[in-house]
Amino acid sequence: LAYLDYNATAPTRPEALKATVEAMSAVGNASSTHRSGRHAAERVDLARRQVAELLNCAHGEIVFTSGATEANNLALRAASGIGGRLVTSPVEHPAVLETAKTITSGSPDSLMLLPVDADGLVDLDALRKALATGEVAVVSLMAANNETGVITDLGPVVEAAHRAGALVHTDATQLVGRLPVDLAETDVDLLSLSAHKFGGPQGVGALFVRRGTPLPYRPLLIGGGQERGWRAGTLNVPGIAGAGAAAEAARRALATEAPRIAQLRDALEDALVERVGDCRINGVRSTRLPGVTSITFNGAPADAVLAAMPDVAASEGSACSSGAPSPSHVLLAMGHSREEADSTVRFSLGYATTAPEIERAAVSAVRAVRHVRAALTAPL
Ligand code: PLP
Repeated sequence: LAYLDYNATAPTRPEALKATVEAMSAVGNASSTHRSGRHAAERVDLARRQVAELLNCAHGEIVFTSGATEANNLALRAASGIGGRLVTSPVEHPAVLETAKTITSGSPDSLMLLPVDADGLVDLDALRKALATGEVAVVSLMAANNETGVITDLGPVVEAAHRAGALVHTDATQLVGRLPVDLAETDVDLLSLSAHKFGGPQGVGALFVRRGTPLPYRPLLIGGGQERGWRAGTLNVPGIAGAGAAAEAARRALATEAPRIAQLRDALEDALVERVGDCRINGVRSTRLPGVTSITFNGAPADAVLAAMPDVAASEGSACSSGAPSPSHVLLAMGHSREEADSTVRFSLGYATTAPEIERAAVSAVRAVRHVRAALTAPL
């Protein structure tokens, strides 16, 4: 099987597996004061430093959560306590978009969705206009899109938002561990990540909260006061240890992995464009993550294409909405018709993807698209 679904989840890195198993083999609640508890707390402390190092922030700025969904909920719910308008975009992951709609009741006074162009980029002028009203409290824009890989240039967003006194949250789930993140350089106030996207275990994530950010205290989980009150509940020590080890492994490999993966992605795109024809690479004019390609194969519904290449694990639009009958909200926001959106396949590559895997996947995908097109155009 050619596994090309890293944006859904990446294979666990060996370092993460080892750290998780070691932590799970030991006994200890990180809140206990005896030696076993202290050892568990030390594992958590190491992991916090490893995640902080990947982001170039202070370890005290990391709150461990159950994933990016929870981190996004926590960030937006806390920020909503400030009052004022929330500005985000229609191409966000549902963990931001649906949370934003829920906490603001979707009213235009409290929620604004910025327009997005055909390349998947948000309209910065519309953002500046919204900020000029002085009513915006928080801007939440994803660092990289999970379906297309399109990257948001956060520099100008942060500059404009801060000038207007608004906070910036970014859902960086797809970018962290794939491209460098430097929080000393990029001055976002809040950032969400999920460990399983960069080779850590599923069910572990983090919210970065910049020190001094004036956030009303609004935890989702109330109880024993863990994570400085931000998230109560016994810490998931094995998961957190695995997340830390994955963060360290990803950080060490970043400089060599990213260009290698981009090269493989480009080879896959070249092969498909050349041999399939009548297809479009979504977001190709924008800066994209190295390992993602979203391709609309005109006249070939994605569900049929995927079924015709069982030896390739790819996904229809985004894995999070696969199984749901509605077309990708991201592609619709970029101006695709429903039919085009439904004919789009996402291939996402990562640290363990190999050149032979890409060659095999290209052969299978070409055959699958040709087969589906031929079946649909054949006379009855
Ligand atoms: N945000 C983005 C951009 C994602 O791609 C995902 C996962 O697909 C999430 C948030 C949610 O992450 P998790 O399911 O690990 O909470």
